[in-house]
Amino acid sequence: TVRTRFAPSPTGYLHLGGARTALYSWAYARHFGGTFILRIEDTDLERSTPEAVQAILDGMKWLGLEHDEGPFYQMQRMDRYREVIKSMLEAGTAYLCYCTPEEVEAMRERMRALGEKPRYDGTWRPEEGKQLPPVPEGVKPVVRFKNPLDGEVTWTDVVKGPITIGNKELDDLIIARGDGTPTYNFCVAVDDWDMKITHVLRGDDHVNNTPRQINILRALGAELPQYGHLPMILGPDGQKLSKRHGAVSVMQYPEQGFLPEAMLNYLARLGWSHGDDEIFSMAQFTEWFNLEHLTASAAQFNPEKLAWLNNHYIKQSDNERLAGLARPIMEREGAQFEGAPPLAAVLGLMKERTNTINELADAAMLFFRTPNPDAALLAQHLTDAVRPALAQFAEKLQTVEWSKPALSAAMKEVLAANGLKMPQLAMPLRLLVTGQLQTPAIDAVLELFGRETVLARIQKGL
Ligand code: GLU
Repeated sequence: TVRTRFAPSPTGYLHLGGARTALYSWAYARHFGGTFILRIEDTDLERSTPEAVQAILDGMKWLGLEHDEGPFYQMQRMDRYREVIKSMLEAGTAYLCYCTPEEVEAMRERMRALGEKPRYDGTWRPEEGKQLPPVPEGVKPVVRFKNPLDGEVTWTDVVKGPITIGNKELDDLIIARGDGTPTYNFCVAVDDWDMKITHVLRGDDHVNNTPRQINILRALGAELPQYGHLPMILGPDGQKLSKRHGAVSVMQYPEQGFLPEAMLNYLARLGWSHGDDEIFSMAQFTEWFNLEHLTASAAQFNPEKLAWLNNHYIKQSDNERLAGLARPIMEREGAQFEGAPPLAAVLGLMKERTNTINELADAAMLFFRTPNPDAALLAQHLTDAVRPALAQFAEKLQTVEWSKPALSAAMKEVLAANGLKMPQLAMPLRLLVTGQLQTPAIDAVLELFGRETVLARIQKGL
């Protein structure tokens, strides 16, 4: 059965690249009815923070990427790592090295001077018939992995194809420091082994770690997972995605009024494809997702496309849900909901052309504040020629059936009787009823405000 994991280091926010990795790992597990594991790689004590852990959990929750196991925290697995290190020392797949950091540096310096790639020279590496130096006093040894000296490590990356690294390129990696704490690649290998991970999808900044992890897994007698290294996400200008390009943290998107469906759909297409399909649900995605159609070239972040998808999902959304999202934003802006039209209905009218919930909330505000039309604008639009027509219209509004078609018909009658054109009546109406000239269709606006409010505002203006 398929077991995948998302293994973020909690050193910042959950960024778009991380979210995409999580999404693909999640989708792959879901596709096969497998297991998706969340693992927090928090061993870098200096850079890991509880806030960053929370940001990851929040981001995963907002996206709806539920894990089946975990979250596991590496810091809580220290005993297990120590146990594995002990067993490797016993098995001879790892050894103690008493070189001080200064000695190792001097070693590297010598090799650089010889024009060689700096590496550990194997002083403490045990070999058949080799005499090791006497153990120095007062040095806490590190534990080194006994990397194979010859041959190569090869794997078929599910994104990049076959990759081969010569073992000569790989040092005898330190797997535990002098104070006994295990190091990064070692912890990842032990975790992937213990958690029986079958597919590792991660950013391609980890390609160089993979041969090291494979060697450790082999030494442990573990079955190897398949690896897939996803290319990074670039900004629209082809540079590495950064703050310059807008929000990089996933959790900034709900703040800016994006829906999780839009983000998921966007990330799903950013590095994977299913023919020309652009818009699909997560149900479809998990059904379709495969490793064959992952894109090997770097993806470019396109904010317009994300906005377009967001617009799509806003239009698809139930109006009550939109109301729940828009209401707090509008409350902050001082919206008065009492005696105003129902928010959900207003949002239903306005949602067609808005790209974010925040834009939608802004646009809807005109229904929820007392209009205060600009006097000069009013004088310009509410001319002496228009006044009598507006008065007639108000008269009709007393008794007209309160529906869009009936309101529209009543307007047309008044326009015809007075020889006016639509904007001549619609503009002053907009000003008086909403305080502004830009509104959705006037009949729809009037219908939503209701007879009482509309009449009161027209009367006040006349
Ligand atoms: N913790 C690593 C990171 O956040 C990911 C490691 C992995 O997926 O193997 O980049």
